Amino acid sequence: MTTVSITRVGTDVDAAFALAMERAGCTGIIKPGNRVVIKPNWNACAIPGSTKLVTVLAACRWAQAQGAGEVIVGEGPVPVGRERIDAYLAEMGALEALAAVGSRFVLFDTDGHVLFKDLPDLPPEIGIARLALECDVLINLPLLKVHSCCLTTLCVKNLKGCLRPADKMAFHRIGLLPAVVALNRLIRPHINLVDAIEAMEGDHNRGEMVPLGLFIAGTDPVATDAVASAQVGFPSGTVPLLKLAHAAGLGEHRLDQIEVVGEPLVPQRLERVQDRLLRKYPDLQIQEAGGCSACSAALMDGLFIAGGNRKASKVAFGPQVEPDADALVLGACTRKYWATHAHVVGCPPDGAAVARALCTPPGDQA
Ligand code: SF4
Repeated sequence: MTTVSITRVGTDVDAAFALAMERAGCTGIIKPGNRVVIKPNWNACAIPGSTKLVTVLAACRWAQAQGAGEVIVGEGPVPVGRERIDAYLAEMGALEALAAVGSRFVLFDTDGHVLFKDLPDLPPEIGIARLALECDVLINLPLLKVHSCCLTTLCVKNLKGCLRPADKMAFHRIGLLPAVVALNRLIRPHINLVDAIEAMEGDHNRGEMVPLGLFIAGTDPVATDAVASAQVGFPSGTVPLLKLAHAAGLGEHRLDQIEVVGEPLVPQRLERVQDRLLRKYPDLQIQEAGGCSACSAALMDGLFIAGGNRKASKVAFGPQVEPDADALVLGACTRKYWATHAHVVGCPPDGAAVARALCTPPGDQA
């Protein structure tokens, strides 16, 4: 039976990290002199929606104490451009803090990738960060967040940050869930820890933080995600991504087959993305048919940026959608309606452009 630990995090984050690792059976995985790569969720979109720096530093110090010869923190953030990535890292103080503990940051985007071609459920070609593939020990370190498409975004999905920037969008177009599962067949983290000191509800980047004060850890990424998902109100068997990963032989998603050690599992339900949309935008009608998660994310961004200035109350996207005449249509899939409808171009459309369209009175739309 696979083991997942739940550990309370107090003021001594390093001690909690070490205890989480010990309880999860991760002590001894790192051998003297090993090259260790830590993969946080540093998305370059929002620091609150990122793995906490204090958790990453605790992981660095723990890996070094375990005998690692080199500890590298690697990430391929959301493709928002080098300037924004650098500004995000600077605001976090990441590079200096890592240097102070004897580690360094590597931006996967500008480092080497190993190419994989013509594999099932994946785009025709993808590139995975060579560092993450070829290190001795990969530590997977996501933040606990809800997600519009995956319900929760945790260890299994966090590996998407090892892809080349262009591959990330291709994943959304080809089918995010099967593609993420296929990616997890190619890259297997040795240690997984979900940072749940605070969790994000309502959205995966723009949501609100909820203090949970926990680390959830294991060697099995699917089991770790299953326990973390249950912790925030998605019981066993309700997260399609984890069921798919289990069916692919990547780990255990059934809670009755997972030994939970440490603190008891006491679920604390987080607000789902859809619930938040209904609560914050009760007048908004979303018409969607066959749309992918990238358009959904662009709409979320647009709604957040538009805030109280929004004028549009009907939005449509997806290749099979048949939008009402007064709907704002999003993305290249709705191209055939552009002559007659207010629209935003792009695949996916840019969140700021969606916001501008949402804020334009219907009669003034292009
Ligand atoms: S336009 Fe939107 S729904 Fe269509 S493929 Fe692009 S991102 Fe997906």
